[in-house]
Amino acid sequence: MAASGKLGTFRLPPLPTIREIIKLYQLRAAKQLSQNFLLDLRLTDKIVRKAGNLTDVYVYEVGPGPGGITRSILNADIAELLVVEKDTRFIPGLQMLSDAAPGKLRIVHGDVLTFKIEKAFPEHLKRKWEDDPPNVHIIGNLPFSVSTPLIIKWLEKMSLQDGPFAYGRTPMTLTFQKEVAERLVATTGSKQRSRLSIMAQYLCNVEHLFTIPGKAFVPKPEVDVGVVHFTPLIQPRIEQPFKLVEKVVQNVFQFRRKYCHRGLGMLFPEARRLESTGKLLQLADIDPTLRPIHLSLTHFKSLCDVYRKMCDEDPQLLTYNFREELKQKKHKSRSQEDRGSASPR
Ligand code: SAM
Repeated sequence: MAASGKLGTFRLPPLPTIREIIKLYQLRAAKQLSQNFLLDLRLTDKIVRKAGNLTDVYVYEVGPGPGGITRSILNADIAELLVVEKDTRFIPGLQMLSDAAPGKLRIVHGDVLTFKIEKAFPEHLKRKWEDDPPNVHIIGNLPFSVSTPLIIKWLEKMSLQDGPFAYGRTPMTLTFQKEVAERLVATTGSKQRSRLSIMAQYLCNVEHLFTIPGKAFVPKPEVDVGVVHFTPLIQPRIEQPFKLVEKVVQNVFQFRRKYCHRGLGMLFPEARRLESTGKLLQLADIDPTLRPIHLSLTHFKSLCDVYRKMCDEDPQLLTYNFREELKQKKHKSRSQEDRGSASPR
């Protein structure tokens, strides 16, 4: 569970409100960047408090925008705050915050999807994976279109102990569309159980901290927002390469309403689909008539372990893609048809 942190003793001096900053710098939310701002500092304080104790922590905030959460982080006795913002219009407002908190705020105009955070903080912060989490924390309220691909990318980095996880088991507190937050924490058998639940929970302890109603944002998004806390596990619940786990999980959930053998079958070439799926399920000791949402992390671990063994025995299996086989089959039958219609009568 995330420890409930206290806001610290350093306080920013009186500053214009976020609403005034937005007016001053004419920061109208850009629709194409899905910008929704949090102006209520009680809410931004709550996000930071729920993230845990940030005293002397190096914080990486992604997408600070007009700086609501940024202010709350600066008030939490952190060691340093590094913000990465894509939209240049926000830089002067953030610069004002930097002047108000000398030596605390570093501003980077850049893209979180490509920024190399592993090089940004001092080397001495790096901890062994088995140690307690390092004095580094990631916080962000990003557009939904960025936060979902970003979490998949970061989960893969986590599995490799690279990127933000080059420092060790860096915790993260991030916002998602409420539905996505629910999927991230969904337990076995729940309606929201999905690919994202397995991919996040095999690598982390995931906690849905609280929900922010859409009406708290300006402009108001269509949906409510979930604040989610991630702490990487010392020992992942599945010890196989990320891409292999992703392939198994994706195949299972592509037919989420069918029995699990249906999706698992797609891991194997059509000619031996039935036989190989049977072998996989038997060796993994799984009832083929379980539905994907009823498969636990232990089930997924067994499936991935057995699938890995089958791939070791037949290395072509790992790169097998049923869509590719289907495409080739269609192509073949089309060229046979063409040849048939071109032949003399
Ligand atoms: N954090 C602010 C808040 O809570 O009020 C702003 C939130 S707004 C939903 C998302 C912010 O992320 C915007 O400032 C937007 O410009 C920024 N952003 C979007 N995509 C980004 C990217 N790829 N890299 C960095 N910043 C990004």
